[in-house]
Amino acid sequence: MINLVLFGPPGAGKGTQSEKIIAKYGFVHLSTGDLFRKHLSEGTELGLLAKKYMNEGNLVPDEVVIKMVGEKIKENPSASGVIFDGFPRTVPQAQALDALLASMGQSISGMVGLEVPEEELKIRIRKRGETSGRADDQEEEKINNRIKVYNEETIPVANFYAAQKKYHPVQGVGEIETIFNAICSAIDSFPN
Ligand code: AMP
Repeated sequence: MINLVLFGPPGAGKGTQSEKIIAKYGFVHLSTGDLFRKHLSEGTELGLLAKKYMNEGNLVPDEVVIKMVGEKIKENPSASGVIFDGFPRTVPQAQALDALLASMGQSISGMVGLEVPEEELKIRIRKRGETSGRADDQEEEKINNRIKVYNEETIPVANFYAAQKKYHPVQGVGEIETIFNAICSAIDSFPN
């Protein structure tokens, strides 16, 4: 059982690379952003709660995210692997995930961090906003806030896993296939 954290700032290519990882390894994809967007489109209570944070580019409160992930993990007990995409985004989320996995006799196998310069991220997010319809991909102020939140609240999560010797940085600029090959090398080096 592989538990992979796919890490990186907004626009780093986590969604694109997740699809390729799923196709190759058959892992289950657990994207908290996708889950929130689904709740939003279905108009659930959780969706309404998340909306005000998402639209501003702020993080949804930890306890809300952790509860949602906890329920989702238990839906897929027999998966060969899970990709955590967009989660954990704060150190308390990482601590909660470690505790949750430990209670199931599991642990994080490794974190792959896609590293992309800030200017390139802004270009990619604006481009995605032309077709994604995502409010948080379209306004300069929201894009900038998401990157600021990432720098302040999410980067410490990479240090959290680095301290456990689980952080694998991957250069996230270049050919999609080259980046994917580097990700596969990292995954293949994880202890089983
Ligand atoms: P993403 O699609 O991963 O960029 O997520 C879109 C938005 O959903 C983020 O800007 C946050 O508002 C919210 N979100 C997604 N994942 C998390 C998380 N792990 N913690 C807090 N908020 C999250």
